[in-house]
Amino acid sequence: MLLPLQQGVLYGPVKSRRYGLSLGVNLMPCGYKLCSLNCVYCQYGLTSVGTIDLAPYAADLPRVEEVAGALEEKLRSSTPFNLITFSGNGEPTLHPHFAEIVDETVRLRDAHRPQVKIALLSNATGLTTPAVRQSLAKIDLPILKLDVGTEKGFLAINRPARRVRFEDIVEHLINLQNIYIQSLFVDGTPANSGRGDIIAWMALLRRIRPREAHIYSIDRSVPSTQLKLVSPARLEEIASTAYRQTGVKVRAFYPRRRAVRA
Ligand code: SF4
Repeated sequence: MLLPLQQGVLYGPVKSRRYGLSLGVNLMPCGYKLCSLNCVYCQYGLTSVGTIDLAPYAADLPRVEEVAGALEEKLRSSTPFNLITFSGNGEPTLHPHFAEIVDETVRLRDAHRPQVKIALLSNATGLTTPAVRQSLAKIDLPILKLDVGTEKGFLAINRPARRVRFEDIVEHLINLQNIYIQSLFVDGTPANSGRGDIIAWMALLRRIRPREAHIYSIDRSVPSTQLKLVSPARLEEIASTAYRQTGVKVRAFYPRRRAVRA
């Protein structure tokens, strides 16, 4: 079963495969999925509105005060969590006030629970906005998607909306410091886990030089029955090859067993 869309600004806390108890923040609309990509494996299903321009949908987005109010209430409560994660029903960095929301989140976190980390799960398409790029430095764990090494792969796997350009994303990722890369590999049709796919992906990883790369495969229902899981053994092989070839620390994650630190 696909994941149901989030119904509010905050959700969880949910147990994250990598980081423990995470309080999710959804900056996209509640009733539909709005994203600049339409990834073949998306756990929320197909993108309802595929765009990079959120102006026509502004009325459906949470206001800065609404996000800050909900976060403050949760931070003051006894609910346990060790991470606040921007994620949700689409791409969080497309929110027109994303940078302001990050500033408010940092302020509230510092005031109420300074030990809590702030994470961002992003598809990197919002990086064309300078304020978004600047705000990444204030986020403890900026985790950015890179599933492929070529534009052809990007079109097949991530299926971008109009005006989203793979070369822009790559250029911005290369210019950022201290980011984490997250990559999801699938087999079947389409696939991004073949030898040539991994060679092209590693070439970009070498240029981006993230703090770490986290790789994984599908572990729940996906929109297409043509997609297949990449086995844990293959993920481990990709992780160790990528570490040897690029010098970047690559960690493979898969259900039930936490895997290699290459
Ligand atoms: S970027 Fe994330 S939310 Fe958007 S389609 Fe891809 S997996 Fe789904």
